[in-house]
Amino acid sequence: MTDRTSPPGPVRAPAREGQFTHLRLDKVSRRFGDKLVLDGLDLRIAGGEFVALLGPSGCGKSTALNCLAGLLPLSGGGIWLDERRVDTLPPERRGFGMVFQNYALFPHMSVRRNVGFGLRMRGIARQEARARVDEALRLVQLAPYADRLPGQLSGGQQQRVAIARAIVIEPPLVLMDEPLSNLDAALRLDMRTEIRRLHQSLGLTTVYVTHDQEEALSLADRLVVLREGVVQQVGTPEELYRSPANPYVAGFMGYRN
Ligand code: ADP
Ligand code: MG
Repeated sequence: MTDRTSPPGPVRAPAREGQFTHLRLDKVSRRFGDKLVLDGLDLRIAGGEFVALLGPSGCGKSTALNCLAGLLPLSGGGIWLDERRVDTLPPERRGFGMVFQNYALFPHMSVRRNVGFGLRMRGIARQEARARVDEALRLVQLAPYADRLPGQLSGGQQQRVAIARAIVIEPPLVLMDEPLSNLDAALRLDMRTEIRRLHQSLGLTTVYVTHDQEEALSLADRLVVLREGVVQQVGTPEELYRSPANPYVAGFMGYRN
Protein backbone atom coordinates (compact mmCIF):
# COMPACT_ATOMS: atom_id res chain seq x y z
CA MET A 1 0.00 0.00 0.00
CA THR A 2 1.36 3.44 -0.92
CA ASP A 3 1.19 6.13 1.69
CA ARG A 4 1.02 9.36 -0.31
CA THR A 5 1.15 11.50 2.80
CA SER A 6 4.63 10.40 3.79
CA PRO A 7 7.50 12.71 2.87
CA PRO A 8 9.98 11.57 0.26
CA GLY A 9 12.92 9.73 1.78
CA PRO A 10 15.25 6.82 1.28
CA VAL A 11 13.47 3.72 0.05
CA ARG A 12 13.86 0.72 2.34
CA ALA A 13 13.18 -2.76 1.08
CA PRO A 14 11.41 -4.92 1.86
CA ALA A 15 8.76 -2.55 3.22
CA ARG A 16 6.29 -4.14 5.60
CA GLU A 17 3.03 -2.89 6.96
CA GLY A 18 3.60 -1.44 10.43
CA GLN A 19 7.35 -1.43 9.87
CA PHE A 20 9.34 1.09 11.85
CA THR A 21 12.58 2.82 10.97
CA HIS A 22 14.30 2.51 14.35
CA LEU A 23 13.89 0.73 17.64
CA ARG A 24 15.75 2.65 20.31
CA LEU A 25 16.66 1.56 23.82
CA ASP A 26 17.73 4.56 25.84
CA LYS A 27 19.65 3.92 29.10
CA VAL A 28 17.50 0.90 29.90
CA SER A 29 18.17 -0.48 33.36
CA ARG A 30 16.62 -3.19 35.46
CA ARG A 31 17.26 -4.15 39.08
CA PHE A 32 16.37 -7.25 41.00
CA GLY A 33 16.59 -6.23 44.63
CA ASP A 34 19.87 -4.36 44.99
CA LYS A 35 21.41 -6.09 41.97
CA LEU A 36 21.63 -4.00 38.80
CA VAL A 37 21.12 -6.64 36.12
CA LEU A 38 20.90 -4.22 33.16
CA ASP A 39 22.97 -1.11 33.52
CA GLY A 40 22.13 1.72 31.10
CA LEU A 41 21.61 -0.30 27.93
CA ASP A 42 21.74 2.00 24.87
CA LEU A 43 20.91 0.42 21.55
CA ARG A 44 19.56 1.40 18.14
CA ILE A 45 18.17 -1.24 15.83
CA ALA A 46 17.05 -0.46 12.28
CA GLY A 47 13.80 -1.89 10.90
CA GLY A 48 14.58 -5.13 9.07
CA GLU A 49 17.80 -5.80 10.99
CA PHE A 50 18.74 -9.09 12.64
CA VAL A 51 20.57 -8.33 15.90
CA ALA A 52 22.02 -10.91 18.27
CA LEU A 53 22.45 -10.26 22.00
CA LEU A 54 25.42 -12.38 22.95
CA GLY A 55 26.91 -13.16 26.35
CA PRO A 56 27.37 -15.92 28.92
CA SER A 57 24.65 -17.29 31.16
CA GLY A 58 23.52 -14.75 33.75
CA CYS A 59 24.73 -11.62 31.89
CA GLY A 60 21.19 -10.23 31.48
CA LYS A 61 20.15 -11.33 27.99
CA SER A 62 16.72 -12.69 28.94
CA THR A 63 16.12 -9.73 31.21
CA ALA A 64 16.80 -7.37 28.28
CA LEU A 65 14.48 -9.34 25.99
CA ASN A 66 11.71 -9.49 28.59
CA CYS A 67 12.01 -5.73 29.12
CA LEU A 68 11.63 -5.25 25.36
CA ALA A 69 8.61 -7.56 25.27
CA GLY A 70 6.96 -5.82 28.22
CA LEU A 71 7.08 -8.91 30.45
CA LEU A 72 9.30 -7.00 32.90
CA PRO A 73 8.99 -3.32 33.78
CA LEU A 74 12.12 -1.17 33.47
CA SER A 75 13.82 0.30 36.52
CA GLY A 76 15.00 3.22 34.37
CA GLY A 77 15.31 4.48 30.81
CA GLY A 78 12.90 4.06 27.92
CA ILE A 79 12.17 2.19 24.70
CA TRP A 80 10.95 3.84 21.48
CA LEU A 81 9.71 2.63 18.11
CA ASP A 82 10.45 5.72 16.04
CA GLU A 83 8.63 8.52 17.92
CA ARG A 84 6.35 6.17 19.85
CA ARG A 85 7.31 5.33 23.41
CA VAL A 86 6.53 1.65 24.02
CA ASP A 87 8.03 0.75 27.41
CA THR A 88 4.93 2.13 29.10
CA LEU A 89 2.66 -0.18 27.08
CA PRO A 90 1.56 -3.67 28.22
CA PRO A 91 2.94 -6.58 26.14
CA GLU A 92 -0.21 -7.07 24.05
CA ARG A 93 -0.15 -3.45 22.90
CA ARG A 94 3.46 -3.73 21.80
CA GLY A 95 2.44 -6.69 19.64
CA PHE A 96 5.89 -8.25 19.39
CA GLY A 97 6.33 -11.92 18.48
CA MET A 98 8.13 -14.01 21.14
CA VAL A 99 9.90 -17.33 20.79
CA PHE A 100 11.17 -18.95 23.99
CA GLN A 101 13.72 -21.67 24.66
CA ASN A 102 11.04 -24.07 25.97
CA TYR A 103 8.55 -23.39 23.11
CA ALA A 104 5.74 -22.46 25.56
CA LEU A 105 2.99 -24.08 23.45
CA PHE A 106 -0.46 -24.95 24.80
CA PRO A 107 -0.28 -28.76 25.15
CA HIS A 108 -4.03 -29.35 24.80
CA MET A 109 -4.43 -27.30 21.59
CA SER A 110 -3.70 -28.53 18.08
CA VAL A 111 -0.83 -26.98 16.13
CA ARG A 112 -3.37 -24.97 14.13
CA ARG A 113 -5.03 -23.59 17.27
CA ASN A 114 -1.68 -22.79 18.90
CA VAL A 115 -0.61 -20.77 15.86
CA GLY A 116 -4.01 -19.08 15.54
CA PHE A 117 -4.26 -18.15 19.23
CA GLY A 118 -2.93 -14.60 18.83
CA LEU A 119 -5.21 -13.98 15.86
CA ARG A 120 -8.28 -15.09 17.84
CA MET A 121 -7.20 -12.81 20.70
CA ARG A 122 -7.04 -9.92 18.22
CA GLY A 123 -10.54 -10.68 16.90
CA ILE A 124 -9.36 -11.51 13.36
CA ALA A 125 -12.24 -13.04 11.36
CA ARG A 126 -12.19 -16.82 11.20
CA GLN A 127 -11.65 -17.17 7.47
CA GLU A 128 -8.78 -14.71 7.36
CA ALA A 129 -7.26 -16.26 10.50
CA ARG A 130 -7.38 -19.70 8.89
CA ALA A 131 -5.66 -18.45 5.73
CA ARG A 132 -2.92 -16.73 7.76
CA VAL A 133 -2.34 -19.80 9.94
CA ASP A 134 -2.08 -22.00 6.83
CA GLU A 135 0.44 -19.59 5.33
CA ALA A 136 2.53 -19.44 8.53
CA LEU A 137 2.53 -23.25 8.79
CA ARG A 138 3.59 -23.48 5.16
CA LEU A 139 6.45 -21.05 5.82
CA VAL A 140 7.82 -23.24 8.61
CA GLN A 141 7.12 -26.40 6.60
CA LEU A 142 4.57 -27.80 9.01
CA ALA A 143 1.40 -27.77 6.89
CA PRO A 144 0.89 -31.56 7.20
CA TYR A 145 0.98 -31.34 11.02
CA ALA A 146 -1.77 -28.77 11.54
CA ASP A 147 -4.09 -31.13 13.42
CA ARG A 148 -1.52 -32.74 15.70
CA LEU A 149 -0.95 -31.88 19.34
CA PRO A 150 2.44 -30.40 20.34
CA GLY A 151 3.28 -33.58 22.30
CA GLN A 152 3.07 -35.56 19.05
CA LEU A 153 5.86 -33.50 17.46
CA SER A 154 9.65 -33.52 17.78
CA GLY A 155 11.44 -30.69 19.58
CA GLY A 156 12.42 -29.06 16.29
CA GLN A 157 8.85 -29.23 15.01
CA GLN A 158 7.53 -27.74 18.26
CA GLN A 159 9.95 -24.88 17.95
CA ARG A 160 8.78 -24.30 14.36
CA VAL A 161 5.20 -24.13 15.69
CA ALA A 162 6.36 -21.48 18.16
CA ILE A 163 8.02 -19.55 15.33
CA ALA A 164 4.85 -19.78 13.21
CA ARG A 165 2.86 -18.47 16.18
CA ALA A 166 5.24 -15.53 16.53
CA ILE A 167 5.18 -14.53 12.84
CA VAL A 168 1.48 -15.12 12.09
CA ILE A 169 0.54 -11.87 13.85
CA GLU A 170 2.88 -10.01 11.45
CA PRO A 171 4.70 -8.36 14.35
CA PRO A 172 6.90 -5.29 13.89
CA LEU A 173 9.58 -7.08 15.92
CA VAL A 174 10.34 -10.72 16.73
CA LEU A 175 12.18 -11.55 19.97
CA MET A 176 13.86 -14.95 20.28
CA ASP A 177 15.37 -16.20 23.54
CA GLU A 178 17.82 -19.08 22.93
CA PRO A 179 15.28 -20.74 20.62
CA LEU A 180 17.61 -23.53 19.50
CA SER A 181 19.36 -24.46 22.72
CA ASN A 182 17.07 -27.43 23.45
CA LEU A 183 17.67 -28.99 20.04
CA ASP A 184 20.40 -31.41 19.01
CA ALA A 185 23.37 -30.15 17.01
CA ALA A 186 22.24 -31.20 13.52
CA LEU A 187 18.78 -29.76 14.00
CA ARG A 188 20.24 -26.52 15.35
CA LEU A 189 22.07 -26.04 12.05
CA ASP A 190 18.91 -26.71 9.99
CA MET A 191 16.89 -24.33 12.14
CA ARG A 192 19.51 -21.59 11.80
CA THR A 193 19.07 -21.76 8.05
CA GLU A 194 15.32 -21.69 8.45
CA ILE A 195 15.32 -18.71 10.82
CA ARG A 196 17.62 -16.76 8.50
CA ARG A 197 15.43 -17.62 5.48
CA LEU A 198 12.26 -16.46 7.27
CA HIS A 199 13.98 -13.27 8.37
CA GLN A 200 15.05 -12.49 4.82
CA SER A 201 11.85 -13.43 3.03
CA LEU A 202 9.58 -11.60 5.49
CA GLY A 203 11.89 -8.66 6.28
CA LEU A 204 11.40 -9.41 10.00
CA THR A 205 13.24 -7.22 12.47
CA THR A 206 14.68 -9.74 14.91
CA VAL A 207 16.41 -9.56 18.29
CA TYR A 208 17.96 -12.93 18.96
CA VAL A 209 19.42 -13.89 22.34
CA THR A 210 22.09 -16.55 22.56
CA HIS A 211 25.19 -17.57 24.53
CA ASP A 212 26.50 -19.33 21.41
CA GLN A 213 28.98 -17.10 19.60
CA GLU A 214 28.98 -19.23 16.46
CA GLU A 215 25.20 -19.09 16.25
CA ALA A 216 25.23 -15.31 16.68
CA LEU A 217 27.94 -14.86 14.04
CA SER A 218 26.15 -17.04 11.51
CA LEU A 219 22.74 -15.41 11.97
CA ALA A 220 23.06 -11.75 12.83
CA ASP A 221 23.73 -8.58 10.85
CA ARG A 222 25.05 -7.04 14.08
CA LEU A 223 26.03 -8.40 17.47
CA VAL A 224 25.68 -6.82 20.89
CA VAL A 225 28.12 -8.34 23.39
CA LEU A 226 26.91 -8.11 26.98
CA ARG A 227 28.82 -8.57 30.21
CA GLU A 228 27.05 -8.34 33.56
CA GLY A 229 24.36 -6.11 32.10
CA VAL A 230 26.77 -3.73 30.36
CA VAL A 231 27.26 -3.54 26.57
CA GLN A 232 30.89 -4.26 25.71
CA GLN A 233 30.70 -3.74 21.97
CA VAL A 234 28.18 -3.48 19.13
CA GLY A 235 29.20 -4.30 15.58
CA THR A 236 28.96 -6.53 12.55
CA PRO A 237 30.48 -10.00 12.87
CA GLU A 238 33.46 -8.77 10.86
CA GLU A 239 34.00 -5.69 13.04
CA LEU A 240 33.93 -7.72 16.23
CA TYR A 241 36.23 -10.29 14.76
CA ARG A 242 38.77 -7.84 13.35
CA SER A 243 38.82 -5.31 16.15
CA PRO A 244 37.37 -6.58 19.41
CA ALA A 245 37.04 -3.71 21.90
CA ASN A 246 38.58 -5.62 24.81
CA PRO A 247 39.84 -9.07 25.84
CA TYR A 248 36.35 -10.11 26.94
CA VAL A 249 34.94 -9.58 23.45
CA ALA A 250 38.03 -11.17 21.92
CA GLY A 251 37.48 -14.22 24.12
CA PHE A 252 33.91 -14.45 22.94
CA MET A 253 35.00 -14.20 19.32
CA GLY A 254 37.19 -17.22 19.86
CA TYR A 255 40.60 -15.57 20.17
CA ARG A 256 42.95 -17.43 22.46
CA ASN A 257 45.78 -15.29 23.75
P1 ADP B 1 20.81 -14.60 30.87
O1 ADP B 1 19.53 -14.69 30.11
O2 ADP B 1 21.88 -13.83 30.17
O3 ADP B 1 21.31 -15.95 31.28
P2 ADP B 1 19.17 -13.36 32.92
O4 ADP B 1 18.68 -12.12 32.29
O5 ADP B 1 18.24 -14.51 33.00
O6 ADP B 1 20.55 -13.80 32.22
O7 ADP B 1 19.67 -13.05 34.40
C1 ADP B 1 20.59 -12.01 34.69
C2 ADP B 1 20.77 -11.92 36.19
O8 ADP B 1 19.57 -11.50 36.79
C3 ADP B 1 21.15 -13.23 36.85
O9 ADP B 1 22.07 -12.95 37.87
C4 ADP B 1 19.85 -13.72 37.42
O10 ADP B 1 20.06 -14.49 38.54
C5 ADP B 1 19.14 -12.42 37.77
N1 ADP B 1 17.68 -12.55 37.67
C6 ADP B 1 16.97 -12.82 36.55
N2 ADP B 1 15.66 -12.87 36.80
C7 ADP B 1 15.51 -12.64 38.14
C8 ADP B 1 14.40 -12.55 39.03
N3 ADP B 1 13.15 -12.71 38.58
N4 ADP B 1 14.66 -12.28 40.31
C9 ADP B 1 15.91 -12.08 40.78
N5 ADP B 1 17.00 -12.16 39.99
C10 ADP B 1 16.83 -12.42 38.70
MG1 MG C 1 18.46 -16.40 29.46
